[in-house]
Amino acid sequence: MRSLGAGGRPRTPAGRTKLTAARLALEYPGSAQELCELDFSNPWELLVATVLSAQTTDERVKLVTPALFARYKRPEDMAAANPAEVEEMIKPTGFFRNKTKSLLGLASTLSQSFAGEVPHDMAGLVSLPGVGRKTANVVLSVGFGLPGLPVDTHVTRLSRLLALTQAKDPDKIEADLCSALPRNEWGPLSLRMILHGRRVCIANRPRCVECVLADFCPSAKLPVVAAPSGRRKSAAAAPAT
Ligand code: SF4
Repeated sequence: MRSLGAGGRPRTPAGRTKLTAARLALEYPGSAQELCELDFSNPWELLVATVLSAQTTDERVKLVTPALFARYKRPEDMAAANPAEVEEMIKPTGFFRNKTKSLLGLASTLSQSFAGEVPHDMAGLVSLPGVGRKTANVVLSVGFGLPGLPVDTHVTRLSRLLALTQAKDPDKIEADLCSALPRNEWGPLSLRMILHGRRVCIANRPRCVECVLADFCPSAKLPVVAAPSGRRKSAAAAPAT
């Protein structure tokens, strides 16, 4: 079955996913671990940083993690922590009371049920309090180098703009993207889409003229150029010269 339509553009969601993955791999090279903008040196630290990253920027998380990791090196240390002390340390990341509860709950479960080790399978990860598929996939792909495609707000938004899926539910988006790609590309694609969503396809002000996906993105907003016949068409539709 042909997957390319007119002008060599992919005409199926799977074809667009493959081309998106290939183009973004050139734009943002590296493994999922290398592409992750959080600071961490082991899966426990990554799990903590991922919990802290909810509703804030990676920069804010990175302000607090060095001292936090130095103080609570293992889940056992965090499980025994004074909640008020943790709250004070993570305050700059916002929602610090709820995040402290999550961290202490996670730390207790890890130390009591997992011998202080972060599990490296989906079932084990989602059994931890407050850990859903998104966080679990971050830990799998970034922390362990295993297949896992985290679907966050950027991945959801770009998947819809690029018509990689018709789904709105993150679990279905994950399944659609994963089905189009080899397992070793799942994590890197997610991390690349997140970077692209932060730097180029910014919510409500996408920089389509700078986007390496613009020639096949159904949502591209490009300057209109005059065709020789006098008809007007978008820059993406103009033949390369
Ligand atoms: S062409 Fe525009 S809308 Fe499409 S992915 Fe790129 S920046 Fe986003």
